[in-house]
Amino acid sequence: MLLPQIFRREALEITPWVLPLWLCTVYPFSAEQKALSLHLVNMTSLTDIQPKSSWISGDRPYLIAGPCSAETPEQIRATVQGLLPAKPDAIRAGIWKPRTRPNTFEGIGPEALLWIKEATEGTGIPVMVEVASAKHVELSLAAGIDMVWIGARTTVNPFMVQEIAEALRGSNIPVLVKNPVNPELDLWIGALERLHKVGITKLAAIHRGFSGYEKTIYRNHPNWELPIELRRQLPDLMMICDPSHISGNALLVADTAQIALDLDFDGLMIETHHDPARAWSDAAQQITPDQLCRLMKELVFRREHIEDPAFNAQLELLRTRIDGIDEALLKLLADRLDIIRDIGAVKMENDITILQPTRWAEIFETRLVEASERSLDQAFVSRLLHLLHEESINTQVKVFREQRDNTPKKQA
Ligand code: PEP
Ligand code: MN
Repeated sequence: MLLPQIFRREALEITPWVLPLWLCTVYPFSAEQKALSLHLVNMTSLTDIQPKSSWISGDRPYLIAGPCSAETPEQIRATVQGLLPAKPDAIRAGIWKPRTRPNTFEGIGPEALLWIKEATEGTGIPVMVEVASAKHVELSLAAGIDMVWIGARTTVNPFMVQEIAEALRGSNIPVLVKNPVNPELDLWIGALERLHKVGITKLAAIHRGFSGYEKTIYRNHPNWELPIELRRQLPDLMMICDPSHISGNALLVADTAQIALDLDFDGLMIETHHDPARAWSDAAQQITPDQLCRLMKELVFRREHIEDPAFNAQLELLRTRIDGIDEALLKLLADRLDIIRDIGAVKMENDITILQPTRWAEIFETRLVEASERSLDQAFVSRLLHLLHEESINTQVKVFREQRDNTPKKQA
């Protein structure tokens, strides 16, 4: 059953105690639906997770680096040694690899846990691996692995996440959850909640982009608005970006990492290999430890606020103008919808269809030409026009329904 927006977690967090009453009085719910809504009200709210500030020391982003996969003891050793000057906060390496097709390298398995521990011994740097089953968790904990992450193909599966959470119960090691492959925020939050419910409080999210049908320059499209919305809902949650899996290409990693930092991400996970061209998995997107050291020097770590009165006054002035424009835009949208309602009413009276394809084609083409003359991005305006059109159609459907329901039925 699809729940109206008011029942979703954002709304629940704002008014948890009002909802049960509201649900019972306003909505004529079945017993099953009431039980479901009460269950939602009792949901974990992730209020006591360790705040991002407790992860980061100093003023640079949290850095996780290391190969896509552990391949040989020499490869792990060479990569870790090369990474030391970049001072990573954690070293990553995949031991069990979720590959899209069989008959490809699927990871070394538990043997490599020892290689990672050995290669990092004495460095004081924690190590992390991907876990996708309870067995992986048991083996990792037994080998003294310090942190784990849940991969995108596992986050999509609540059964697997639950199984992993149960296996982690009592350990309270840091767990980082990658976004699911599909752009569904609730699935991502749900995985974090499952871990939180077994007592894991050192939780973080890793944004690695989303699969899509359309081909773009990215291997996994960033859909930045999703992690931004996650931040709005869970402002204290540590958020790390994985530009390697978003990019799919070493040449794009720096640019994607800088965008993430400018969007106020708290850290980066970057795949690094001492010899990327020969990597056994994700060869195209890995960079060398030297390249990573250079990248960390080149990236600009910007702040969210500064105490400079002149800058703040200038920003405030510009923001006031944006506020005014948004107000005018909303008024125009409301005026537009009023006219749409009138159009719906006259169409209904005259038995005319809601959609006239030629009119829609004309609107679409003329507005795009105008947008291009104003140097507006065509894809953006196209999305906006589709949204406006969808809202117009829905509004007219409502007008048609209301008029139909208010018209007295003809006697037979
Ligand atoms: C990885 O980190 O190597 C990996 C398999 O990532 P993802 O789950 O993002 O595909
Ligand atoms: Mn990888």
